[in-house]
Amino acid sequence: MKKINSIGYGGKILGCATIFTLVIPGIMQIIMFAYKSRILAACVKISFGIGISIIVFFIGLLAVEFHQDKRMNIYYETKKDEKLVLGRGLYECQACGNRGVKSEDKYCSVCGILFKEKDESNETNP
Ligand SMILES: [Zn+2]
Repeated sequence: MKKINSIGYGGKILGCATIFTLVIPGIMQIIMFAYKSRILAACVKISFGIGISIIVFFIGLLAVEFHQDKRMNIYYETKKDEKLVLGRGLYECQACGNRGVKSEDKYCSVCGILFKEKDESNETNP
């Protein structure tokens, strides 16, 4: 599943939900003070329903995003003291992003984290 990141469009979704939940029904209620109409009353309910549906959808989206963030944090915590192979004898420190780590380095020269030695005996090839 693709990583959800609602920081770019979360405000737009909430703004859209506010318009359907509060603004449109509010304007229609003001109009209905002067002009009673069953159609307008139905439109108020429909607009409110659309707004609530958007909010429920957004809450679901946030729940999935928070779950993905939690899984990524757990993954990062288990990998941050490892060297990532970049090729040509270079590695990247997963704690700080230093790309000048060499295979013989036991710790990162930038952040000082002690690298965990990979246990090759646990890795099995099919
Ligand atoms: Zn580092």
